[in-house]
Amino acid sequence: MTRPDTDAVHLGREDLVALGVHVPPLDLSTTYPLPSVDAGGAAYEQLASGGRPEGAASLVYQRLWNPNVDRFERGVAGLEGLPGAVAFATGMAAVSAVLVATVAAGRPHVVGVRPLYGGTDHVLATGLLGTRVTWATPDGIADAIEPDTGLVIVETPGNPTVDLVDIAAVVAQAGDVPVLVDNTFATPVLQRPAAHGAALVLHSATKFMGGHGDAMGGVVAASEEWLVRLRQVRALTGGLLHPRAAYDLHRGLQTLPVRVRAQQESAAVLAGRLADHPAIARVLYPGLKQCDPRGLVGTQMSGPGSLLAFELAGGYAAATATAQACRLIVHAVSLGGVDTLVQHPAGLTHRPVEAAARPGEGLLRLSVGLEDVEDLWADLDQALPAR
Ligand code: PLP
Repeated sequence: MTRPDTDAVHLGREDLVALGVHVPPLDLSTTYPLPSVDAGGAAYEQLASGGRPEGAASLVYQRLWNPNVDRFERGVAGLEGLPGAVAFATGMAAVSAVLVATVAAGRPHVVGVRPLYGGTDHVLATGLLGTRVTWATPDGIADAIEPDTGLVIVETPGNPTVDLVDIAAVVAQAGDVPVLVDNTFATPVLQRPAAHGAALVLHSATKFMGGHGDAMGGVVAASEEWLVRLRQVRALTGGLLHPRAAYDLHRGLQTLPVRVRAQQESAAVLAGRLADHPAIARVLYPGLKQCDPRGLVGTQMSGPGSLLAFELAGGYAAATATAQACRLIVHAVSLGGVDTLVQHPAGLTHRPVEAAARPGEGLLRLSVGLEDVEDLWADLDQALPAR
């Protein structure tokens, strides 16, 4: 068995030498030649009901199967330590597919632990896809479970305040209800939720997996039973990942471990310096002792990651002025890429969240990239209110 850094480079590429190529061939076919109506029809039925293609059968149609998407999925599944994965057009398409599958199984009640990404919060709060949500604290999950609860959703670290949740404790409280962990912030490099009992591990692949801000995608790693259900939802509702994006995301996995570790190193430096800045009331970063009371960094997570948030003493006016004054750091939503991004969650990514659960008006979220940490600090220092 090879180690995770090796897996990141090679998973989903096992057949390349036999094919006589060095990188995966990009298959952009929207449709595939059919050997016969009967064989094509059998393959169609197999794929549209969530199965995998068998032998040399036709792949029939891109919405049902694509080899580049399959390669990316195998990479993610291996890194997360789960039997397989299903990839979607975006992270939100992945969240939606899980919710549709949950409703279809006749258990539409969902227990959500805030904070969650604003889009996930929004789709749950509106009940747009037929779910009904109860918001719970990590300690209140058992009490929130109802007879028709089909899913518990948590993010750790959570977006945007990087709160950590003890996954094994959540799983214990959930009993036989499957737990979905959105692992976008940690990536499988720093945390493997399945090892702590999570049934489903979700990523916005748009973030660290792609890593360069040029490809959108979402992916769910899960057990075989869930994979069948999720592939069926994808085939029927059409939220498939484009093969070209799948190629880019699969390539992104190869450098994921080195990017995540290098970005984390700079984030730790910046968190420490921000904590000493007089204009800042509070820094939120899992690497700071007060932000990790359960000691999850070093046990559940191998490192604190490269996302942090900080609250300006001067509130909304100081926070928005700081975001707008950054020159090197880009004022933009999204995260996990090679360049550092800053954004105001209450005004942007978490705008749809109900007021009582919305992040503070003085809070900024920083996604630390690969630039020289001294250049990043110089930019933050000039953008923050004067000392
Ligand atoms: N989950 C988390 C933690 C996110 O931060 C995001 C997007 O920011 C999503 C899910 C949704 O992903 P996407 O934007 O790829 O739809």
